[in-house]
Amino acid sequence: MYYPEPISKLIDSFTKLPGIGPKTAVRLAFFVLNMKEDDVLDFAKALANAKRELSHCSICGHITDQDPCAICTDNTRDSSLICVVQDPKDVIAMEKMREFRGKYHVLHGAISPMDGIGPEDINVPSLINRLKDDEIQELILATNPNIEGEATAMYISKLVKPSGIKTTRIAHGLPMGGDLEYADEVTLSKALEGRREL
Ligand SMILES: [Zn+2]
Repeated sequence: MYYPEPISKLIDSFTKLPGIGPKTAVRLAFFVLNMKEDDVLDFAKALANAKRELSHCSICGHITDQDPCAICTDNTRDSSLICVVQDPKDVIAMEKMREFRGKYHVLHGAISPMDGIGPEDINVPSLINRLKDDEIQELILATNPNIEGEATAMYISKLVKPSGIKTTRIAHGLPMGGDLEYADEVTLSKALEGRREL
């Protein structure tokens, strides 16, 4: 209300980002005003391009600029092993570790009855559909080590059991309640190595 409209619109946009409170939004908006025009245009272009050019892989659900994604189409990777994660950022965390040579399935969330999120609301149906592929032998359930992540792992494990495909859960040692994406590479690598069968 105290700001000219273009600035208040910018402040509003920043406020919609996670972790940005009203004060930070104002600070960022004024920072942008002081940036060089070319830099601002580059920034705006990067935002728009990221949104326009990225979509979700029709096989695994990971973010990609080609469909299927580079991981799904990589024939040097082990198609018998699928690591199931909640978020595309978890795939990035796993890839940084450079140890996992299987493929992924991104759920885009976790089952949470409290929030009204059921298996149909996340990428579980596409996972089940994918299991018709005879090549798949093991699902590594690498959902987050919190209540929702555990519940999701248990749900998928029960659902998959009749198919004879092995389901394993990454080992504890990951901080409880934490997100996979924040685990350091050594912790993540140990959690993967120490996975146990469900
Ligand atoms: Zn993919």
